[in-house]
Amino acid sequence: MKVAIVKEEKCIGCGRCISACPFSAIKMDHKKAIILEEMCRGCMRCAPACPTNAIVVK
Ligand code: SF4
Ligand code: SF4
Repeated sequence: MKVAIVKEEKCIGCGRCISACPFSAIKMDHKKAIILEEMCRGCMRCAPACPTNAIVVK
């Protein structure tokens, strides 16, 4: 199944992806977004919410 991946070097810690995820699959850790892979359903809502294009879904 597809899961979202955060490119850490691009993440600015804005938290928009956390608000966008309907499955609570993203948490913040040291101002970087972390995808909880076991919660992610690959719905891709987080990726377009990210202002720096830090999220890819593979
Ligand atoms: S792909 Fe969907 S379920 Fe996975 S982290 Fe992004 S918004 Fe959440
Ligand atoms: S929306 Fe993008 S920049 Fe903002 S916390 Fe999420 S991954 Fe990081």
